[in-house]
Amino acid sequence: MKYAQTVTDLIGDTPLVKLNRVTEGISATVLAKVEYLNPGGSSKDRIATRIIDAAEREGHLKPGGTIVEPTSGNTGVGLALVAQQRGYRCVFVLPDKVGEDKRNVLTAYGAEIVVTPTAVAPDDPESYYSVSDRLAAEIPGAFKPNQYANPNGPLSHYETTGPEVWRDTEGRVTHFVAGVGTGGTITGAGRYLREISDETPRGRVQIVGADPVGSVYSGGDGRPYLVEGVGEDFWPGAYDPSVVDRVVAVSDQQSFDMTLRLAREEGLLVGGSCGMAVVAALEVARELGPDDVVVVLLPDGGRGYLGKIFNEGWMRRHGFAAATGSPTVADLLG
Ligand code: PMP
Repeated sequence: MKYAQTVTDLIGDTPLVKLNRVTEGISATVLAKVEYLNPGGSSKDRIATRIIDAAEREGHLKPGGTIVEPTSGNTGVGLALVAQQRGYRCVFVLPDKVGEDKRNVLTAYGAEIVVTPTAVAPDDPESYYSVSDRLAAEIPGAFKPNQYANPNGPLSHYETTGPEVWRDTEGRVTHFVAGVGTGGTITGAGRYLREISDETPRGRVQIVGADPVGSVYSGGDGRPYLVEGVGEDFWPGAYDPSVVDRVVAVSDQQSFDMTLRLAREEGLLVGGSCGMAVVAALEVARELGPDDVVVVLLPDGGRGYLGKIFNEGWMRRHGFAAATGSPTVADLLG
């Protein structure tokens, strides 16, 4: 019989799929790494096991303990999966721009959530960073993974995501593109790919970050943008800029347009940060030739955004083009 012992054993080993339509006019091969096929639905499942294992080993998390973390949702799901298997309680702090669907997913896994305002400075007592610090200090037996600074985040991508990309492209990957949130994905996977490719005839893999316009990684001041899970208004410890060769800034409009195209044209129902990463990947790929292989990481699925990017009303209210353009009966009958 072929089966996994627990759902957490299904984390990682996600497949690559070629992008065929949105790449029109591009001669390089562009491959998407589909992270929504992780059991919790995102790349964040990878960091959760490693962070909790390390916390247990180092004595930060003891039986009956509580995990407290500020998270846009995906990290929460990963942590909640591992925590429920091992009997820990989870309390997650979310900014209010995170959709209701994502919040409900967390509570479905048994986590508790606290919602905080988006439009305040990180040092404001109401910010999600401040609130989570306070909860971590006041709840007995609390452990705060701090994905923004925890070295086990980038390390999990160094040990899994990077090697998978190298193995599945048989060492032919030339460019790796990922959106930057905590920076863990690009730092860990990027470092592995640079190291393994350094001495090869094809040369070192180029590491490209994708960032929302206004975020610090592409030179902004942290001005609010609507794409979720990426961009920052500070420089987290999980991000090592020396690993990254180039950062491409992408607007919300571009990100959402591409997210809709990925669903309609490539059959990939993914989140807004995936559209953002693909816009950056195509910008890079346009400059390349037929021997180049661009791998772009798609962190999560689109189901958590059905009320937003994939909802015409929400898109119009936020000044974006209509999402689906559903015809009326009159349209259909001419
Ligand atoms: N996209 C989404 C939807 C995310 O939740 C995250 C994680 N914050 C990222 C991209 C970025 O990944 P990382 O934190 O590893 O930079």
